[in-house]
Amino acid sequence: MFDTIEQARLGELHFKSDPASSLQAIIAIHNTRLGPALGGCRCVHYATDQDAINDAIKLARGMSYKAALAGLPQGGGKAVIIKPRGDFQRQDLYRAFGKFVNELGGRYITAVDSGTSLQDMDYVSQITPHVAGSLRDGLDPSPCTALGVFAGIQAAARHQFGNADLRGRTVAIQGVGNVGYALAQLLSQAGARLLVCDTDPLKVKQAVAEFHAEPMAPEQFTATHCDILAPCGLGGVIDRRSIEDLRCAIVAGSANNQLAEPDLGQRLHAKGILYAPDYVLNAGGLIQVALGVRHTDAASIQQRILAIGDTLTTIFDRSRATDTPPSTTADQMAEAILYGNSTGA
Ligand code: NAD
Repeated sequence: MFDTIEQARLGELHFKSDPASSLQAIIAIHNTRLGPALGGCRCVHYATDQDAINDAIKLARGMSYKAALAGLPQGGGKAVIIKPRGDFQRQDLYRAFGKFVNELGGRYITAVDSGTSLQDMDYVSQITPHVAGSLRDGLDPSPCTALGVFAGIQAAARHQFGNADLRGRTVAIQGVGNVGYALAQLLSQAGARLLVCDTDPLKVKQAVAEFHAEPMAPEQFTATHCDILAPCGLGGVIDRRSIEDLRCAIVAGSANNQLAEPDLGQRLHAKGILYAPDYVLNAGGLIQVALGVRHTDAASIQQRILAIGDTLTTIFDRSRATDTPPSTTADQMAEAILYGNSTGA
């Protein structure tokens, strides 16, 4: 485990078990150089405890890089709750989690993520002030994440196709949950043709009805012929096998850690597929909660979210000029901010 921690340059790793509430949780704090670590709390099933630890570490690192390139005064951290297999009381679970967050004294600020809701964050906020985004403060990050992804897709289209107009472009979306559904709405308004899949058939049905999207089977997603492939479910969608099936010009979605292994960025680059680095593209929600708790006005927040498109354009231009994958270029830019040089050494 210490090799993983050192490789990720992780600052702190905390564990909590509270049998009374069924809480088994991990908090990973990656870097606090720019400010307290801010990152969502994920509550999903894991095959092994090690998988949960690896997920927390990888996600926390991504949050540091995300905040750095979004120009926010925040560090990176992430919490993982191993979803209990049996019955549990949500309120008890999230209050116990709130106690865990509180014990870290504000070095980690939690928020909503896959498997958690704004209501859950309300329970957390009954115990600790170190939470951003709840029913109480009215900050719902998902629509803002979708807006940032949309701006990033336009920037990617401009770079790859010569213009940002999405009319008639085919976009395949995997996962029409909180972010994917809001993204589908923006894309549909922009005149894109949508193909959607989700493991939840009801969500697909709703997207088909509302946006005239065409349904596709989840297992067809990576091999689908489209202009833009938008992974908006869980991570690891682009792996050594699926990368060879891709029939798209751009990969740009909200999911964290879309590349199962970092060197796949090089393979995408070699195949001429433009990859919008996930942590740059999906920073809209973080921007909203980080600035929202500081009472920044809505118009300024929206402007910062739309600027994700400009950041991506800078990354794409540098990537083209140096013949370096966008994923590597983004890492180098983030590491220059976090560690003061371009190699992170
Ligand atoms: P969500 O749980 O609301 O939606 C995810 C959807 O993907 C669900 O509908 C789920 O059924 C579906 N799904 C999961 N696996 C699938 C598969 N194999 N095939 C098809 N569908 C599948 O989560 P969300 O909040 O919309 O987040 C989506 C992704 O974006 C996650 O990776 C999350 O970490 C990332 N993200 C979210 C935010 C945010 O503001 N919510 C911010 C940054 C990043």
